Amino acid sequence: MQSESALRLVWIYPDLLSTYGDQGNALVLEQRAQRRGIPVQTLHLRSSDPVPEGGDIYLIGGGEDRPQILAAERLRRDGGLQRAIARGATMLAVCAGYQIMGHTFGGEEGQPVAGLGLLDIESGRGAQRSVGELAADVDAALNLPTLTGFENHMGLTRLGSGVRPLSRTRIGIGNGDGTEGCYAGRIVGTYLHGPALARNPALADLLLSWAVGSALAPIDDTWFDRLREERLAAVLPPR
Ligand code: GLN
Repeated sequence: MQSESALRLVWIYPDLLSTYGDQGNALVLEQRAQRRGIPVQTLHLRSSDPVPEGGDIYLIGGGEDRPQILAAERLRRDGGLQRAIARGATMLAVCAGYQIMGHTFGGEEGQPVAGLGLLDIESGRGAQRSVGELAADVDAALNLPTLTGFENHMGLTRLGSGVRPLSRTRIGIGNGDGTEGCYAGRIVGTYLHGPALARNPALADLLLSWAVGSALAPIDDTWFDRLREERLAAVLPPR
């Protein structure tokens, strides 16, 4: 974290939570910012290091149950992410990372484990693993196209009144009640891998626009669009 003017991305705990290529979310944000002339600095924050409070966008990914519990404990103890969010930082939390943002989540035996309480959600273990492609229509207030991605999780998530569902599933399980993910303030949580921001560049731009405080110029998305169309056509009937 050197330059004051660069957009500061913090990729949280790649040594614990880095399954399914979720690090690609950081790469997509970097690339889409740089293509608009916005310089970016990305910190790959190991779990042995303190969480810097001065980041603009924090990213956390999916993982197995035990590293997830360890990550939650370390983040709770550290407090830096909570302070960053309190001063308005943007956050994308995926799968295990999404569950950690809530009040509690289910450990490897289903026992409740304390999360950070940054999102008004509670997760527990479902009866069976939710695996496969997911497509979901985004909350109209966010004005984003249909989400695409894949999911692989045991946990299911109950949304409290302090969050809004990110989307409603057309294919897939998501939170388990017909919704997928949630958002509150500048925090977005989702079960989607893909990576989520490679499959859904409009979501990447929404996060970037929150962080820079203004709308972003459009860029050529031919390759992103091809990936989206191919994945959506594979699972959805033609409209
Ligand atoms: N361990 C969590 C679950 O199974 C998260 C899994 C993941 O991140 N893929 O629900």
